Amino acid sequence: MYQSEEILRTLINASPDIICFKDEQGRWLEANNTILKIFQLEGVDYRWKRDIELAQLTHPLYQNALFACEASDKIAWQKAAMSRDEEVIPTLGGDPRIFDVIKVPIFDTDGKRKGLVVLGRDITDHKLAEEKNIKSEARLAEAQKIAHLGYWEWDIVTGKEQWSPEIFRLLELSPHTTHLTYEAFEKALHPDDYDNVLQAFEQAIYDNQPSQIKFRIVSSNGTIRHVQACSKLIRNSKGKPLRFLGTAQNITKVKQVEESLRHTNDQLQLRINELARRSHEISLLSKMSNLLQTCLTCEEAYKIIVQFMARFFPDTIGLLAMFEASSDMLESVATWGKFSEKTDKKPDKMVFASKDCWALRQSRPYCMADRETFPLCNHSFSEIATIYLCVPMIAQGELLGLLHIAQPTLNSDCLNDAHQYLAETITEQISLALANLKLRESLRNQSIRDALTGLYNRRYLEDALEREFYRADRNQQTVGIIMVDIDFFKQFNDSFGHDAGDLVLKTLGNFLNDYIRKGDIACRYGGEEFTLILPGAPLEVLQNRAEMIRSKIKLLSVKHCNKDLGPITLSIGVATFPQHGHRFKEVLQAADTALYRAKREGRDKVIVAE
Ligand code: GH3
Ligand code: MG
Ligand code: MG
Repeated sequence: MYQSEEILRTLINASPDIICFKDEQGRWLEANNTILKIFQLEGVDYRWKRDIELAQLTHPLYQNALFACEASDKIAWQKAAMSRDEEVIPTLGGDPRIFDVIKVPIFDTDGKRKGLVVLGRDITDHKLAEEKNIKSEARLAEAQKIAHLGYWEWDIVTGKEQWSPEIFRLLELSPHTTHLTYEAFEKALHPDDYDNVLQAFEQAIYDNQPSQIKFRIVSSNGTIRHVQACSKLIRNSKGKPLRFLGTAQNITKVKQVEESLRHTNDQLQLRINELARRSHEISLLSKMSNLLQTCLTCEEAYKIIVQFMARFFPDTIGLLAMFEASSDMLESVATWGKFSEKTDKKPDKMVFASKDCWALRQSRPYCMADRETFPLCNHSFSEIATIYLCVPMIAQGELLGLLHIAQPTLNSDCLNDAHQYLAETITEQISLALANLKLRESLRNQSIRDALTGLYNRRYLEDALEREFYRADRNQQTVGIIMVDIDFFKQFNDSFGHDAGDLVLKTLGNFLNDYIRKGDIACRYGGEEFTLILPGAPLEVLQNRAEMIRSKIKLLSVKHCNKDLGPITLSIGVATFPQHGHRFKEVLQAADTALYRAKREGRDKVIVAE
């Protein structure tokens, strides 16, 4: 008996768990080393003492734990059955320990309380590990939720499938009510992505490579989700497939952001292209404007304008037409672009009335955007032009002409609002430049032409003579000069009035202008004296021409206020370069002297200089 008690005590003391026997009043009868060590009661005579009394005999730190112990004893007694609870016992080191405490009340056959067995195991480490595990699992789940990352696994050995909550969310299914199968997943796949997904799975299985794929999931309400999935087959060391697993990430938001970024990027690119186009146009405009400013004649300007139009509007054909002087008709003065022989009228020297153009009729641009809806202008020269633009050229309120831009074939960059705006801007510049040139031309004419007869004036004559003599000298040619003076002109004035005199001068002016050839120059030298310059004419030709003029003018009848003014007779002097002088003044003088001889010798005569 004694021996077995000894063995029992040794066993109890060897246990790393708490073991304590209490009597029916809660007094400690037997306690092992573990519990004594925990409550720092080693060496204390604990027997027949209750928890409250023992609390006085140890460090105050353990008071609460001992009180709690007594309280839980009561619960065990009340329950009259084994009770189990976790109890926390502080340590001097600071880290409290958690114990899994079992209390078993013992009763005798009459039901009288006999004693209480208290067993306790330190589960602190286990608890901490469990807590850590729970926390990390929760974190993983949270991270998967945040990343919209789901996980699935198919155990090939057991055939069991496992789907993480995020996969359910992706398929808009509830993990609590639905049993997810591979078939359900297949059903949710976008039909267009079905084959690709199967192919990726096959790749993962047969090529032994992890596979990656992007596909779409269509939920029951038709919402499309974009998914990025990875899958991998796991084999054992002998190569036998064990598990097939993978991840699926909802990348719909990323896709949406990507899409909106792409859209923004496209828009940006469009803007950049637009800006580049504008800047190119502005630079072209400025180049054209600079060139136009240095043009001396309208003809020069026309050439430049059409060259630039071909650059402003590539793939178009077009023409520039100008109003003929004081008329309602326009004439094409220049064209650009490749005209098709078959379908386009040859626009060189095309003449049309302003009423033939819808733009000119309205004095504003006209765009023929399609042949079914818009009437065609009569002047349009391209039979197949799918679209064209007519822009009237107006400067200082005056209609100068028309710019016609036609697009024979529709392409991606067909004439649009931006082109129309550009055409208007260009036309404004062109119109201003051409108006300036016309003004300059008319001012120059005013300074070199005689207002009454329209012939060149004396100033021009002298410039022309200088030029012609220089040219003739280089080419070893002659220049003929015919000096003409109306006989007794004063009498026209005196008898019929100054207007009649003017009429005689105008009539002679027209006569001389019509009579001379291209390249000859007719001038009013002053008063009733006229001079003709005939480059390249030898003396005999000159003399014949003078004779012809003298005889023909006499046949002309001039009427003023229904009164016949009588015949005009002329005295004419003729001289040539280089025969009568090397400088134009000498030759003029020679012709003048000859003219005065004709006067002296009775008028109505041609005299050749000596
Ligand atoms: P002759 O045969 O000697 O040339 O006699 P003439 O009368 O033609 O010559 P004269 O020099 O005596 O007279 C020229 C006149 O021409 C004088 C001038 O009043 C007139 N005259 C000059 N310019 C104009 C003009 O623009 N219009 C008109 N109506 N008369 C002009
Ligand atoms: Mg005279
Ligand atoms: Mg005279």
